[in-house]
Amino acid sequence: MSFSVTILGCSSALPTSKRFTTAQVVNSLERFFLVDCGEGAQIQMRKYRVKMSKINYVLISHLHADHFLGLFGLIASFNLLGRKNPLHIVGPHQLKEMYFGMDKFLNNELNFPLHFHNLNYKKQELIFEDDKIIVESFPVKHRIPTCGFLFKEKRREKNLKKSVIEDYHLSIKDILKIKSGEDYLDKSGEIISNNKLTMPEKPLRSYAFCSDTMFKEKNIGFVQKVNLLYHETTYAKNKQKQAKSTYHSTTIDAANTAKMAQVQKLIIGHFSSRYKDLNVLLDEAKTVFEKTSLATDGKQFDLSYDKENQVVVIEKQLEEK
Ligand SMILES: [Zn+2]
Ligand SMILES: [Zn+2]
Repeated sequence: MSFSVTILGCSSALPTSKRFTTAQVVNSLERFFLVDCGEGAQIQMRKYRVKMSKINYVLISHLHADHFLGLFGLIASFNLLGRKNPLHIVGPHQLKEMYFGMDKFLNNELNFPLHFHNLNYKKQELIFEDDKIIVESFPVKHRIPTCGFLFKEKRREKNLKKSVIEDYHLSIKDILKIKSGEDYLDKSGEIISNNKLTMPEKPLRSYAFCSDTMFKEKNIGFVQKVNLLYHETTYAKNKQKQAKSTYHSTTIDAANTAKMAQVQKLIIGHFSSRYKDLNVLLDEAKTVFEKTSLATDGKQFDLSYDKENQVVVIEKQLEEK
């Protein structure tokens, strides 16, 4: 089952002709989340063939225009497209007020249930869980209350090795116990370790989204050892003062977070519109953390497995429709 991140927009406050404002789609084992919804996110979804109907959750990190202005247009389009499934919006509490305030004038009847859920900006909190994944929010440090998001695959059932069932004459109850990780006590009283009975496990995959934030040591704990970290990089290192006063990060701040958190790969994004050539930012970040990639609109990062069952990050630029 796939685990991927598709960048729809990676510009900070001002969009450019090449970069839309923040939005991305996280596919975590076929559960689709839209993370932030900057202006034009739905146009980007069409351009890069993201199936909008699959999105059941929209997570909005904070109430700055470059992270949520596309939300109301998206809800209107869902309605026009005949959506019936519930849509969950997880974000600042003001979003609900804004939506219904606007709706009073539009007098539009929604054909699907719309649920608003408030983010907790004080502490880490579980915002979604099912049998396969969990999603958590965690507070970061920005000018206004802001959350990052963490997507984690849950422990899977183990697969039994071939012929184990016959060799040990296992009952259904035994099989379920072994699949959950228990050792097996055979008829002669010998303990057979779980490793001998089951296939090697593939490591569980994880992704963290950190935008917008200044460098904060606490963030490192939240994103510790994730496979993939998206971290805002609004400025180059020579704009450290500006980054601090606006509660944003530089290339070095993002790379230091990735290094200290021992993540596998860093994606930098949320670039100031002043930067035409993003390689300047990439080169700077790489001086601290080599495994850094640039976000670009339409780039997809896929967390898959190599032959040794290790997690690898595969990047590709999606074609425009
Ligand atoms: Zn922003
Ligand atoms: Zn912001």
